[in-house]
Amino acid sequence: MSQLNLSKTEFIAYLDCPLKFYLLKQQNLYTKQGPRSNILSKFYRIPTQRGIRAHTLLKEFYGNYGDDLQVGNPPPEQVLLDPVLRLFWDQETHRYEVEGEYWYPFALEYYLTTQTMRGIIDRIDQLDEHTCRLVEYKSSLKGSFLNEELLFYALLVSENLEFQQQYKKTVTQGAVYYYDTGEWITREITEEDILEFKDYLQTIREDIMTGNWTKRHQCKLQKHDCFFATVCTKIPDALLRESSE
Ligand code: SF4
Repeated sequence: MSQLNLSKTEFIAYLDCPLKFYLLKQQNLYTKQGPRSNILSKFYRIPTQRGIRAHTLLKEFYGNYGDDLQVGNPPPEQVLLDPVLRLFWDQETHRYEVEGEYWYPFALEYYLTTQTMRGIIDRIDQLDEHTCRLVEYKSSLKGSFLNEELLFYALLVSENLEFQQQYKKTVTQGAVYYYDTGEWITREITEEDILEFKDYLQTIREDIMTGNWTKRHQCKLQKHDCFFATVCTKIPDALLRESSE
């Protein structure tokens, strides 16, 4: 079981639908990194391409516009013309007023791995000398497993020896920023939360290893939303056990 290395995306896929996890894991079988890094974005569906573009814009925001924002200049024309950048400018201007000297992100698109987990954290903010906040970027769609996503990353950071030795920072907050709407939500994360999640993740890993990769019963995502629907709908039911959900 120690050889099963789960990415955050694979973990969330399993919570969502075991068959989706299986199909995604097959795609990621020979890579340590998630699909974002090793497949050209033009091969993705339009919503995913939009997501990749937004993530790139937000990652490059600090290098491109950080100086202007910090000295109080008005937003540059490129920012005014792009809805994602425009909303983010407002959000980050507000955060600069509140967080001042710690405003500049500690890390952007930070890839971390351990023996059993891996993931790319969109942003890490420093809260003070010893603590940090993990930030996840999403579109306007509210994800069903946001809590699990943030705790997955918090556990990943706390278990990555390199990160701990080099930076000595404890995760005390998780946040999600919705780049289509400008909404920002945060939650506190305690050591107990992380330990509890570690036990929970272990039960999920054990569940995965049973090989019970059933598909959702009468899944409504087959027609529209699931990236794997094309493959999923072609697998004969006789080859799969139906989930009771
Ligand atoms: S279409 Fe539904 S059942 Fe099929 S893989 Fe996607 S979520 Fe699972």
